[in-house]
Amino acid sequence: MFDKILIANRGEIALRVIRACREMGIKSVAVHSTADADAMHVRMADESVCIGPAAGTDSYLCIPAIISACEITGAQAIHPGYGFLSENARFVQIVEDHDITFIGPTAEHIRVMGDKITAKDTMKDLGVPCVPGSDGGVPTLEDAKRIGDEIGYPVIIKATAGGGGRGMKVAKSADEMEQAFMTARAEGKAAFGNDEVYIEKYLTTPRHIEIQVFGDGKGKAVHLGERDCSLQRRHQKVFEEAPGPCITEEERARIGKICADAVAKINYIGAGTIEFLYEKGEFYFIEMNTRLQVEHPVTEGIFGVDLVREQIRVASGLPLSFEQDDLEINGHAIEVRINAERLPNFAPCPGKVTAYHAPGGLGVRMDSALYNGYSIPPYYDSLIGKLIVHGRDRTEALARLERALSELIVDGVDTTVPLFNQLLAEDDIHSGDYNIHWLEKWLEETYGA
Ligand code: ADP
Repeated sequence: MFDKILIANRGEIALRVIRACREMGIKSVAVHSTADADAMHVRMADESVCIGPAAGTDSYLCIPAIISACEITGAQAIHPGYGFLSENARFVQIVEDHDITFIGPTAEHIRVMGDKITAKDTMKDLGVPCVPGSDGGVPTLEDAKRIGDEIGYPVIIKATAGGGGRGMKVAKSADEMEQAFMTARAEGKAAFGNDEVYIEKYLTTPRHIEIQVFGDGKGKAVHLGERDCSLQRRHQKVFEEAPGPCITEEERARIGKICADAVAKINYIGAGTIEFLYEKGEFYFIEMNTRLQVEHPVTEGIFGVDLVREQIRVASGLPLSFEQDDLEINGHAIEVRINAERLPNFAPCPGKVTAYHAPGGLGVRMDSALYNGYSIPPYYDSLIGKLIVHGRDRTEALARLERALSELIVDGVDTTVPLFNQLLAEDDIHSGDYNIHWLEKWLEETYGA
């Protein structure tokens, strides 16, 4: 086992990893930008190193600075969290070349899954069901139009390098193809330096269901059921839950086994999430994330396992601490993402937090790096906390969420808390009757936004 791990991240996820390290008796090293000198992850880690100025590109994304921080502190492994360098194959290669262990999959697996076209090809070969669409990249507008006619409108044009909801455009009919094709390509080029796109059938009423998998890198893998992340704004998740309100035990066992078998076959190591759209009882693969997800705590809640601990275990060569048959679902968990944003437009709202009080009590978990008097810097993601609740069933979890939200105090900045209070008054949220378009429609009806 490692003696010391460096966490190449900030905010709540850096704290999350530090917590796992402490429970395992491992020393932690925080890295930070000059803007984060007073951040909670810096205070909580055993050691810290300043790796550059405020801009992410000059600090949390600066590979030489992170490698140097490892060498100075003698950290033997790097946990990347999510975002930043977590899915950067070049970074992983450099880490390995310096004889440091990357806590995550191999550079090769990250590369294959990081390109949505090769990911889809690989998954298809491994027997995972995919959304019907172009087989591979679509080079010209003429090809795009032909494929659109073949699979039938609406279609979605996606940048193969896309992520975070960017580089995707829907064409409802042939007339919209030119505009959608050109925009998706331009966005792919501008945001990811790659203008290759592919086309998929656009599903009109799907839910977003993702399967948590875990591999030991030696041909063994398990699944930890699904998370339903259908409540999305601009293709970004805001509310996640496990188990999925519409997934049966048989469906879970079937798709879970397909996913676990697929990653076992490629000797996948660590945590991974296989994302699907789910419509009329069918699962359609859309992408795989080769890292810990923001919403991993809902899975931890219902299975009672620490996923970061397992990541560290398998990275150090130990087996997973559980087998498939040990995993049993207990109750229901829900996470809401609390962002420093002003409604109704979700404009980022950084600034000083004049008062902060985290909710508590049975079944409540608040993952946040906030504290009284903390100044949220304007340079990074606007996620300031994740409130996760666990109950014996979905009804209890929803009641607990409402209660916990009423205890949370974040003064000084606007947050997305009022959105969740409003959502909890909706019948569809209580019945679980929503798909990936529900929230956008609701926002439009409620705010005209
Ligand atoms: P990203 O990498 O940007 O997160 P994904 O491929 O995971 O992109 O898709 C994100 C979201 O976009 C999905 O959760 C879903 O809401 C929507 N989406 C993606 N593909 C389709 C599709 N074929 N039909 C309908 N919606 C889709």
